[in-house]
Amino acid sequence: MPQLESLASTLEARGHRVTPSRAAVIAAVLQQSGHFTVDDVLRRCRGTGRATVFRTIRLLTELGVVCRVLLEDGSLHYRLSRRGHHHHLVCLNCGGVRDLDECAVGDLVRELSRASGYEIEGHWLEFYGRCASCRAPVPATA
Ligand SMILES: [Zn+2]
Ligand SMILES: [Zn+2]
Ligand SMILES: [Zn+2]
Repeated sequence: MPQLESLASTLEARGHRVTPSRAAVIAAVLQQSGHFTVDDVLRRCRGTGRATVFRTIRLLTELGVVCRVLLEDGSLHYRLSRRGHHHHLVCLNCGGVRDLDECAVGDLVRELSRASGYEIEGHWLEFYGRCASCRAPVPATA
C-alpha cells in the first residue's frame, strides 16, 4: 500500500497543497479495509469538513490510489487500489468486492463509438452476484 509521505509528495508535485486536514484524510483512507464511503472517512477525521474529505478522495481517485465502486443499491463506495481503469465483482451476499484486472469491454466501446458517432470518454461496469464462497452448495436434504 502507498505511504502517506509518498502520496503527499506526489500530490505536491502535481501542484496540490497538502494541508494538515488533507493529510489527515489521506491517513484515514489508508487505514480503511474493504470498501468505504465519504462518511466513513469523515467519522475518522473529526473537525475536517465534508468538502475537504470529498475533494481529497477525488484527488486520490485521480492518482489511481483509490477506485470507486457503485454498489447495487446505488451507493458510491471507495476502495484502495493501485490499478488503472478496471471493473469490479461485487458479492450481494457478503458485500465483498474484487478488482478485475482489466477492462474487458474496450472493443465494445470502440464499436459503439463507430456505430453511434459518439466520442466515448468513459464508462462504468460492475458485476453483481455471489462470490465463490457464498455460492458454496447447500448440503442436499433428500
Ligand atoms: Zn460473498
Ligand atoms: Zn477497484
Ligand atoms: Zn472498462
